[in-house]
Amino acid sequence: MINVTKTYLPSIEKYNIYLEKIWKKSWITNRGPLVLELEQKLKKHLNLKNILFVSNGTVALQIAIKALSLKGEVLTTPFSYVATTTSLLWENCKPVFVDIEDQTFCIDPSKIESAITDETTAILATHVYGYPCDVERINKIARKYKLKVIYDAAHAFGTKYKGTSILNHGDISTLSFHATKLFHTIEGGAIIVNKNEGLKKKISLYHAFGHVGDDYYTMGINGKNCEFHAAMGLCNLPDVKKIIALRKRITLLYDKKLLSLGLKRPALNDRVEYNYSYYPILFPNERSLLNTKQALAKNNINTRRYFYPSLNKLPYVKNTDKCTVSEDISKRILCLPLYPGLEDSVTDKICSIISKTIKVTV
Ligand SMILES: *Cc1c(COP(=O)(O)O)cnc(C)c1O
Repeated sequence: MINVTKTYLPSIEKYNIYLEKIWKKSWITNRGPLVLELEQKLKKHLNLKNILFVSNGTVALQIAIKALSLKGEVLTTPFSYVATTTSLLWENCKPVFVDIEDQTFCIDPSKIESAITDETTAILATHVYGYPCDVERINKIARKYKLKVIYDAAHAFGTKYKGTSILNHGDISTLSFHATKLFHTIEGGAIIVNKNEGLKKKISLYHAFGHVGDDYYTMGINGKNCEFHAAMGLCNLPDVKKIIALRKRITLLYDKKLLSLGLKRPALNDRVEYNYSYYPILFPNERSLLNTKQALAKNNINTRRYFYPSLNKLPYVKNTDKCTVSEDISKRILCLPLYPGLEDSVTDKICSIISKTIKVTV
């Protein structure tokens, strides 16, 4: 079975070296030495001023929402993983969906202002598939209306915009290091605070029950991560450049065959250094997507409908926002297998199956 992704694993010998360190110290969680080492190395690798390693990307979003005291309405993208929306609901905010651009599939800045009301407190946008949002226009609008900005950067590890990490934008950016992501720590995530020191301290307290030793400052939650997960991160981090290069190579192979069939891909602007975290491809209609997905499945090739449904259509959201672009794209987009080690013969096979199904259904 060829899956849409395959978890990258370091050599077991490399991981064992870290396990021995953990056993020697008998320190397995609560901000142990490997967690601190991973934070330092991530900061350096991504060229950031700060980063807090937390238990997952969803808790990262929830802590960010809580720490910015968001309430009322939050403008957000309908085209993302479900956690972007549910983290708002979980924190008692009302998601207001702003449609996406048909080129980047990120939130459309030209549609943000008309969605702002007296109840709006923030914008929560996703750099979907690692393609950056229009951070400059979003920032301008946020300043004009005094809105907070959170970027769900779960797909954007390693993506750069104008030469620096995309994570430097927004009041807060969050990452996911889940096993299916480009860089992973089995389970894990991170919070990057871009503006004030007070917020950084608050977030650090929030992720560890709100106390330091016997001093109880605030209510908190348990968002800490552990030494075993940090060890996986420390093993994988030195390989990230190689992982991105291998993904790029496969992406170009797909592009060469699929773009000539008339299939569309999200557009990259030339100021972006991309991380090749997913391979989404847009079909002419839902029928051709479903036929292709089924034909691939018959050949034991598993694809995913990332992201379907459009999040404004989730049954429990009870939302009447119309997002025509997102609703259309979500019906026609499919992510193809992409991971280091995927063989050229498999990508060839995938492309030839797609070429056949497209000819039949268009
Ligand atoms: C994976 C993902 C998350 C959730 O991260 P977890 O670490 O799995 O909790 C949130 N947002 C987006 C866009 C994601 O892809």
